[in-house]
Amino acid sequence: MSVLVVGTVAFDSIETPFGVAERILGGSASYFALAASFFTPVRIVGVIGEDFPDEHIELFRRRNIDTDGIKREKGDTFHWRGRYHEDINLRDTLELHLNVLSGFMPRLPERYRDAEYVFLGNIDPVMQLEVLNQIHHMKLVVCDTMDHWIRESGDNLQKVLKRIEMLVINDSEARLLSGESNVVRAARAILKMGPKVVLIKRGEYGVLQFSDSQVFATPAYPLEEVFDPTGAGDSFAGGFLGQLARSGDASQRGIRRAIVYGSVVASFTVEDFGVKRLTTASLPDIEERFERFVELTDFHT
Ligand code: AMP
Repeated sequence: MSVLVVGTVAFDSIETPFGVAERILGGSASYFALAASFFTPVRIVGVIGEDFPDEHIELFRRRNIDTDGIKREKGDTFHWRGRYHEDINLRDTLELHLNVLSGFMPRLPERYRDAEYVFLGNIDPVMQLEVLNQIHHMKLVVCDTMDHWIRESGDNLQKVLKRIEMLVINDSEARLLSGESNVVRAARAILKMGPKVVLIKRGEYGVLQFSDSQVFATPAYPLEEVFDPTGAGDSFAGGFLGQLARSGDASQRGIRRAIVYGSVVASFTVEDFGVKRLTTASLPDIEERFERFVELTDFHT
């Protein structure tokens, strides 16, 4: 079983209250792929520029991530610059350079087209649609998006929402997409747009899952130090879908366990800058923190 992801493969320049990092590996697909690769093989679809170093590609390959779907184009790699506030839940985008991403049309290698578990990571919805059109028999499609695409490509996003099972979105984006300020009402409105399940990420406050018949809430794993929250959302999605692919269990119980695995992987990501912690953590570390998470939320005993 493997998971396919389309999203950005990027350079990030980040400022947090704890330090700065310039042009490090980032992007929605990078975080997702590294997170999911603890559980299952991963295939990436994306685009990079001439300035993208081979060492990052080698990192993906060492982690059993198939990079044949990453196209190298003339020009510079997508670059995002962000700054976090003292309240680390808040961040501003200072610069967004689409570079080779503008006008990119993904072409999936033939052997990617039977992908069963698909993550449409944060990228232009036009590209998300293009990927969906090239896949034959999907079992489960999960999608992410952000304020930029809700504003710039809203009509295409609506088309995507009609074709997916699950949407992962943060609370402020859920409000923007639905026009509802209450998060529960926002989730209900988004369910009407197509997805059967909506997962609302609330940063350090955890995740809420909504479907027609279920609501499930989990906290984020409490950490003393959050160093850099970049990629927490994509790592959550990677841990979530990676675990669903590993277990093959998409029952409500399986989804709940996958939400906790996603939260655990995200808790590692934020402990260091960029993808660093995702490269030093191991699957036993993740399993151990999963067990601690179970204790943390147990109120039966
Ligand atoms: P997250 O913190 O999980 O929301 O994701 C952060 C990642 O999203 C960073 O590594 C950025 O490179 C990437 N990113 C920022 N803006 C965009 C955008 N408009 N589209 C796609 N990816 C983006």
